[in-house]
Amino acid sequence: MRGLHLKKTIPLLMLLAFLCFWLVWKRPSHQELHTTTRLAMGTLVKVSTWGTTASEDDNGVNLVFAKINAVESWASKQIPSSLVSRINHAQKGTVWDVPEEWVTVVKAALEIRHLSDGAFDPGLGYLLDLWGFGNGVAEEAKIPETEKISAWLDTRNKQPDFGIQWVQSTHGNQAIQWGGFSYELDLGGIAKGYAMDLAMESLKRSGIANALIVAGGDMIIAGSKGGTPWRIGIQHPREHDKVMAFAEITGDMAMSTSGDYERFFMAHGERQHHILDPKTGRPSRSGLISVSIQTAKSIQADALSTAVFVLGMAKGKALIEKLDGVEGMLVHENGERWKSPGFKGQWLEGS
Ligand code: AMP
Ligand code: MG
Repeated sequence: MRGLHLKKTIPLLMLLAFLCFWLVWKRPSHQELHTTTRLAMGTLVKVSTWGTTASEDDNGVNLVFAKINAVESWASKQIPSSLVSRINHAQKGTVWDVPEEWVTVVKAALEIRHLSDGAFDPGLGYLLDLWGFGNGVAEEAKIPETEKISAWLDTRNKQPDFGIQWVQSTHGNQAIQWGGFSYELDLGGIAKGYAMDLAMESLKRSGIANALIVAGGDMIIAGSKGGTPWRIGIQHPREHDKVMAFAEITGDMAMSTSGDYERFFMAHGERQHHILDPKTGRPSRSGLISVSIQTAKSIQADALSTAVFVLGMAKGKALIEKLDGVEGMLVHENGERWKSPGFKGQWLEGS
């Protein structure tokens, strides 16, 4: 009797197991990884979502690029009609009503400027133009005349307040009085990070909890790939197609990498790159060639990676250790490497 019962239940259980397997396997429309790459903010932006339907993913991708393009349209120095460009070219003393977003980004930039003792400075627009890095085209880069750099340094040193006066506008909004000339704003070291925070927030609001957005050296992560961590790589600063370190990450995190290999030209036997040291008016020679920062917010990761790059190994380490929730990985041209204990990532063997 018992044997007969078993004989009947075993095939039934097998059928059930097969059905379960088939059902799970047959659900790819909600389990698939969707990836879209488009050009935005002068770089390739890759958006990956997990566990979305094709239309949820489409909607999410559109939200991401809408946010990034909206930030670019006011923050980019390369767009003549952007608010940053209009302020840069306004007459000294002009009063501008500035929107909340502008205040958020500029105040965050000034805070990092303060924390890094001026190594990060959002007022390098004119200097970056002198070096040919202001318009985003590295081929036009050139070493400026020494007198021009000295003149810039002189003006800047006379105005440690950065040239901006915060004032109240007639209708109660935040407004600024512009200092003019040498203080042309360049938010290239922070605006992308801010845009990525907004992009990830809008993905989450649309119900997408698992996503990875990568834009050049910046990335922001949420959730996982169906229980598997997102796997990310950090580029080798001297070997173009090689990864130097990798990390497996689950949950919310932002990471930004600044390197002297991103935009540069060679002159006088030296790498003339796009991260300038505001104290010398020239490409940073701190010895660091790659800096990665991990934080909760991309706006901070973006600005801090640039700041630590300029500060160098000793001061950079000290700043990372001083700040809560900030982890870093630093590579020196002499081969020295350091990462903070909480940094999520492993060096790749042989890298
Ligand atoms: P990142 O690649 O994130 O390190 O940012 C580099 C960009 O930030 C450059 O292309 C410039 O637009 C801007 N930048 C360069 N040097 C500095 C600096 N010392 N402080 C703030 N922004 C900078
Ligand atoms: Mg940066």
